[in-house]
Amino acid sequence: MAVQWLLVCHGLVTLLVVVSFLCGQWPIFQGTFIQRIHHFLTFGAFDYLRRFVEYLFGSRGTNALYLTQYYFCDRPNPILQVIYLAIIGGTYYLVVNSTFNYIPGHYMGGYHRYTSLLGVGVGIILFLLTSFSDPGIVNADNVTQYISVYPYDNLIYSEKECSTCKILKPARSKHCSICGHCVARFDHHCGWMNNCIGEKNTLYFVMFLLWHFFLCVYGTVAIGLVLAGRLKELEVVYILTAYYGIDNSFRSLAPHVVQWLIGSYNTQILLMVFLAIVSLLLSGFFGYHLSLCISNTTTNETFKWQDYLSWQRKVNEAKVSGEALKASLGDLSQETKHPQSKWKSFFKRSHLEEVEIIKNNIYDRGFFQNLYFGS
Ligand SMILES: [Zn+2]
Ligand SMILES: [Zn+2]
Repeated sequence: MAVQWLLVCHGLVTLLVVVSFLCGQWPIFQGTFIQRIHHFLTFGAFDYLRRFVEYLFGSRGTNALYLTQYYFCDRPNPILQVIYLAIIGGTYYLVVNSTFNYIPGHYMGGYHRYTSLLGVGVGIILFLLTSFSDPGIVNADNVTQYISVYPYDNLIYSEKECSTCKILKPARSKHCSICGHCVARFDHHCGWMNNCIGEKNTLYFVMFLLWHFFLCVYGTVAIGLVLAGRLKELEVVYILTAYYGIDNSFRSLAPHVVQWLIGSYNTQILLMVFLAIVSLLLSGFFGYHLSLCISNTTTNETFKWQDYLSWQRKVNEAKVSGEALKASLGDLSQETKHPQSKWKSFFKRSHLEEVEIIKNNIYDRGFFQNLYFGS
């Protein structure tokens, strides 16, 4: 039973750390321990390290630490790319090492040895395509073309020059301070790809997410079927029934089966937990990016729209309270002349209801057009 609890704890801790790190800043986690873990992982841990280094080595130590941070976080570097390759390579190696002995099995055909390799290969090709393709770098030669494709909406984009590239910034583009150039239809700078995600590689990126989601689901289901095959081949249920003397009751036998599986195939169970967690996260990322593609918006634009709409709301509120003040002053002077019926004033519409804030995304060309051209 000790191994079982160790595995459960491992799964829960992994899930908590990964979810906190990636999603802890989301509004739904505000004020929860997930946000606190996120704060610790993204800021607190580094701050403790900085204080520790300062205590040991003084200002020379902290300067070296800041230089290292600058190189890792603010300059293009292949560290996360190497980590991705290590994760996919390491996971595939573990699967081959622990599970391929049982393929072909009762529920798994021998061809899965090759389809799994193909799946990993396609995943790596999509990773290379996203990482090393041009995201849509804007330069003097193509800037007019991008400006004609994406006109300024004068809401979140207006005509201005990039102070670094010294060229006009087309609407929907952004200057990436890590890569050092403007990128058309900029989505975000992806550390895992060591590249920007923009006009020309969003499709590869979304396909990368979708493919890796399927790959993780495939891995989880395939390992599950291998283990189910082992149960069948070794007649485990039959032996356990004979040993414990439980007559055909799967519910009372299930804990013993699980215990046997965890005891005999802990690497496979560990891999299944890992792949299931990663597939859940990937489904969330893919869903988010698909919804962006459908509405022809980028991650960068969702922040811009948030700022624009909250600014609009404040302007409208100021306008409404100004008008309300004017109206109440008018009412006050009129009331003395013609006292207004209470019913009339009750049914009079509030000024606040008349104000509507509209997100007018001119780049949204409808569901099918967005899916075809948007990525
Ligand atoms: Zn620029
Ligand atoms: Zn970039």
